[in-house]
Amino acid sequence: LFLCLEGGEGAGKSTQAGLLVEWLESLGHPVLLTREPGGTEVGQVLRRIVLDNDTGELSPRTEALIYAADKAEHVDRVVLPALADGHVVLTDRYVDSTLAYQGAGREIGIAELEAVARWATSDLRPNLTIVLDVDPAVGLSRFEGADRIEAEPLEFHQRVRQHFLDLAAVDPAHYLVVDAGRTPDDIQHDIRAAVEPWLSQ
Ligand code: C5P
Repeated sequence: LFLCLEGGEGAGKSTQAGLLVEWLESLGHPVLLTREPGGTEVGQVLRRIVLDNDTGELSPRTEALIYAADKAEHVDRVVLPALADGHVVLTDRYVDSTLAYQGAGREIGIAELEAVARWATSDLRPNLTIVLDVDPAVGLSRFEGADRIEAEPLEFHQRVRQHFLDLAAVDPAHYLVVDAGRTPDDIQHDIRAAVEPWLSQ
């Protein structure tokens, strides 16, 4: 089972990921929690490069290709082997983040970006993507910038949010949109309810 958490800055992905892993493990499922960018050793180096790019010196296409390289390494070395081993894999961000941040945010052609991201991931898609939806003004105010000072304007984050919602709207069987403006327990309750049916498949 391949699960993905998506959402904007300050949506609470890490908290929800931790609670979800705890629950899955309590049910006896082996779980691998991973993330993009930075789910591999090479990915850690690539993550530093793209997150240090706040001043925008990298060309947007270069940035997009670095994210794609991170994905290829992540899928080939971490995600596919863990799935083959019977793990539930939970990734914090995946292809949709690329479509939302590089595509809708930086306004690179979505069709090209998607083609590159699908190639980079061998078109491996999550069974369920959970979108933690929060108003960017609220999310950004919560975000403490653990490893990056947020440099993008609010409109950028509004485009990112809308893109996640658009992706979810066209494929409701594989998405859950959760109102992440509520308490962590309420959010987790909805996530567990949506994940549960997938555990018996
Ligand atoms: O979720 P996490 O804090 O690890 O993401 C780090 C940052 O990387 C995010 O704030 C986001 O701005 C950026 N990012 C991006 N494009 C991606 C994935 C992440 O711009 N494809």
